[in-house]
Amino acid sequence: MPSNVVTRFAPSPTGYLHIGGARTALFNWLYARRFGGRMLLRIEDTDRERSTQGAIDAILDGMSWLGLDWDGEPVHQFARADRHREAAETLLGSGHAYRCFATAEELQQMRETARAEGRAPRYDGRWRDRDPSEAPAGAKPVIRLRAPTEGETAIDDAVQGRVTWQNRDLDDLVLLRSDGNPTYMLAVVVDDHDMGVTQVIRGDDHLTNAARQAQIYKALGWDVPAMAHIPLIHGADGAKLSKRHGALGVEAYRDLGYLPAALRNYLVRLGWSHGDQEVFSTDEMVAAFDLKAIGRSPARFDFAKLENLNGRYIRESDDTALVDAIQRIVPEPITPKLRENLVAAMPGLKERAKTLVELLDSAYYLTAARPLALDDKAKGLLGDDAKTRLGLVIPALEALEEWSATATEAEVRKFAEAQGLKLGQIAQPLRAALTGRATSPPLFDVMAVLGREESLARLRDQITQ
Ligand code: GLU
Repeated sequence: MPSNVVTRFAPSPTGYLHIGGARTALFNWLYARRFGGRMLLRIEDTDRERSTQGAIDAILDGMSWLGLDWDGEPVHQFARADRHREAAETLLGSGHAYRCFATAEELQQMRETARAEGRAPRYDGRWRDRDPSEAPAGAKPVIRLRAPTEGETAIDDAVQGRVTWQNRDLDDLVLLRSDGNPTYMLAVVVDDHDMGVTQVIRGDDHLTNAARQAQIYKALGWDVPAMAHIPLIHGADGAKLSKRHGALGVEAYRDLGYLPAALRNYLVRLGWSHGDQEVFSTDEMVAAFDLKAIGRSPARFDFAKLENLNGRYIRESDDTALVDAIQRIVPEPITPKLRENLVAAMPGLKERAKTLVELLDSAYYLTAARPLALDDKAKGLLGDDAKTRLGLVIPALEALEEWSATATEAEVRKFAEAQGLKLGQIAQPLRAALTGRATSPPLFDVMAVLGREESLARLRDQITQ
């Protein structure tokens, strides 16, 4: 049933969509879907020096890849600067804001005095009640909020509970700079209001901003949206997440071979829980998502857990869907023949792989050109004795009438028995010769997928070298 719930994801396009941003987007998306509402996207591009089109594209691509769609067209904050200025003028008109002509030196002096007295720097309100006619000639003012000086500002946060600030600790913040540009704080409030946002969900690094923003809302006579400030993600060692911990762009996870569904599932559990359930289909997530179940302590990013979850999603994926997913991360087109082989080999391949990259790596044997380049372990398995054994098993395999996993397995077992060998003594050299590696999907599946001709040719390559 449609509802009036409106959430928004509001990234600053100064870099890629990092993992914390992706989780924020996911939570907003889930909340909107859960309540039949809408999730809007706002690009906070007011920092003209640091915002780039490349970053905007990376954010949109990352969200699309993760399957997080937004409603309507993205809103670009910078394009709304006139509207922000208009709100500042409204506040001037209603007496909730004033022009401040304090010079850079005066502000510097205020900061130094505060530092000397061991308190946080704050603007002392010297232009709050002064008449602009006293302004020095030619000085360009900023517009400041006439913030309340007594009482408190409180937010009932869905995650943090009730958070209060003493108004005497919050100074009169700048709404419009002297060059006429709106500040971020003003822009966020006006945009959230105009976009009809009912629920803000964002990182708890914005919690203090929420107090400032609540003051602006009140001054404008607008309702403050409901707030949820979610704890930031930390690394496995408990320190704030950095690149070293996996704070990579979403596209890096794609290139490392993670499936979007697995990453979504991993991200939803970073900070949110639903009993002890770990694996969620998208529908299950939507049905269960709830702000109350978001924890107040930072979640820890754990690569091993993400890998295991990804491995599980790979095992449960459809074989052709996995080939499609591989195609998205490799530059060369997969030929129809290779696609056919990959699909045939997939049941064996997907059992072990934790990422698509591992999957591709284990499919190396399908794409490798003859004679195969053996890795060191495979070379170790093909000593002189092993080659002699290969030389003996080849004619037995050549004589097979039917070439299938069952037929080759029966023949190789019979050969091992007749020669008094353990199965591994012949299976491992076969594996090395056929795949170039010491580990591979099940050997007889490999033979079946490669087919008689290619299999025998690879075996012969090794004994004639
Ligand atoms: N643009 C801010 C950021 O990327 C988010 C602001 C908000 O959600 O209110 O951190």
